[in-house]
Amino acid sequence: MKRMEFRNTYIGNITIAVKSLFTGMRVTLREFFTRKITEQYPENRKTLHIPERHRARLVMPHDENGNNKCIACGLCQQTCPNGTISITTRTVTDEESGKSRKVLAEYRYDLGACMFCQLCVNVCPKNAIEFSNEFENAVFDRSRLIIKLNK
Ligand code: SF4
Ligand code: SF4
Repeated sequence: MKRMEFRNTYIGNITIAVKSLFTGMRVTLREFFTRKITEQYPENRKTLHIPERHRARLVMPHDENGNNKCIACGLCQQTCPNGTISITTRTVTDEESGKSRKVLAEYRYDLGACMFCQLCVNVCPKNAIEFSNEFENAVFDRSRLIIKLNK
């Protein structure tokens, strides 16, 4: 006859139950003696630490001349699962070469529909968009959550 494993015996079951009880109690006791911190928000706005990687809203960085790196390829718009991004382009003709190219006219981002998955940022070939950690985005009117990102 096959030998019964200890964990499947009556005593084995009790041993496992007591062990897991002590594991749980150890976590509870550790948290009980951990120093408690209460954030006094919004009074502590100036000292509040928001992790850099926190995804609060999509932004499009611009250089000192007001230029962004977007080439209007539309990849972010196609990748977004929520239809949060809407890009409008226009065509410009280069005076020297006479060649036409597509440039960004308007980059609209609907913060209210964004689920912060960051797929748009990951797919951008020019690193033209990124997430900022500015988290205070509450508004009274949803239409104000639709933001034009390019200057
Ligand atoms: S983070 Fe996700 S949901 Fe938000 S705009 Fe980018 S792809 Fe769309
Ligand atoms: S933000 Fe990036 S992915 Fe989106 S249109 Fe501009 S260059 Fe393309």
